[in-house]
Amino acid sequence: MPQIVSYGEAAQLVRREAERILARTRRREHLPLLEAAGRVLAEPILADRDQPPFARSTRDGFACRAAELERGALRITGLLRAGEPWTRGALNAEEAVEIMTGAAVPPGADCVAMVEHVTVADGQAQLNGQHRPETGENIVPLGAEARRGDAVIPAGRRLGPAEIAAAAACGAASVPVFVRPRVAIVSTGDELVDLAEAPLAHQIRNSNSYSLAVQAAAAGGEPEIFPIVHDDSAETEAAVRRAQSSDLLLLTGGVSMGRFDYVEPALASAGAEFLFTGVRMQPGKPVVFGRLGGQPFFGLPGNPVSTMVTFALFVAPLLMTLGGESDAEPRLRIARLAEGIAVKTGLTRFLPARMQRDGNGTSVRRIPWQGSGDLTAAARANAFVVVPENRDKLDEGEFVSVLEI
Ligand code: AMP
Ligand code: MG
Repeated sequence: MPQIVSYGEAAQLVRREAERILARTRRREHLPLLEAAGRVLAEPILADRDQPPFARSTRDGFACRAAELERGALRITGLLRAGEPWTRGALNAEEAVEIMTGAAVPPGADCVAMVEHVTVADGQAQLNGQHRPETGENIVPLGAEARRGDAVIPAGRRLGPAEIAAAAACGAASVPVFVRPRVAIVSTGDELVDLAEAPLAHQIRNSNSYSLAVQAAAAGGEPEIFPIVHDDSAETEAAVRRAQSSDLLLLTGGVSMGRFDYVEPALASAGAEFLFTGVRMQPGKPVVFGRLGGQPFFGLPGNPVSTMVTFALFVAPLLMTLGGESDAEPRLRIARLAEGIAVKTGLTRFLPARMQRDGNGTSVRRIPWQGSGDLTAAARANAFVVVPENRDKLDEGEFVSVLEI
């Protein structure tokens, strides 16, 4: 039975399935820190000591007591460089110590007066009148960023540069990450030939397997491209069986209402449970989603732009979740529409566009296209303007939702 849903309902069904998937246990591995970049953390990274591990000066200046400096000149009794230990007792009220950014503030000092705010004469530091330092100024207290044992990075986070740096600061030379989910990619269609072959006049090259492999890798998966499958019932069934051991099964093409569209029947005969079999959207209307033996699958439309858009909207967040990422969402942004758009209502539309930074933030402008088969337009685009299904126009200057691919 067909289950045609709105885009919002489809996104919700995918999200619900993702929640189930997130609750599962998944395989993990330990990787050297740099190799873990882009992977998803399997266990929290804990602070191995207080951060910062000492009261840290955030400026070059003079460590002293703020109230005493305000009262008058203080004798400069030392110089503290970053990485140099303090070997004396607490500073007394009349002293100031010249200190560098990143050095440990000596006990007894309650501020670091910036060098720019101080005049030095005769071995004494005095405010030059530009600014009065307050207690605590230019000092990050010991443990203010994290306490020893605190989770600096929670499990389920993808490791970008900041996370890698934070892990390095905690001494994590290797980190536990989730094993990347394997993504089987099966393109179907009698008209398809592979890249290495010369297409005849009535044939086209398989491009979907390539866009999907790139999108799958970007969403944290390990893509495996299977051979092209003909529009044949037995061949499609065999392909589904072969690809079933992967963590996520993607088929493209053969999901429409054509006489030679065998993907849905092949999935059904393998015992698939369908969560939706179509979405009121354009491009991407025939997209199919469900589970087969506990694993999720998608039947993506064959039109290359539809394939790409439905991946970005539905497959990407699900795949990220399969990889253990805890708050995976499609890459939807807000941008200002540079030029009005008129469409028919009834379908959520995703129209190829160029997004651009300008003086007022980010603006987006449609680019012409020949419909969901127009890969050239997709390659010129860097985003898709989202038109909600109940809107027949979007106005110039309006803030609109934009899908980044
Ligand atoms: P289908 O969804 O099978 O009806 O295919 C819709 C359109 O997408 C047809 O014009 C196909 O030729 C095209 N198409 C299907 N699969 C691919 C593919 N793997 N690469 C490029 N184009 C495709
Ligand atoms: Mg086809």
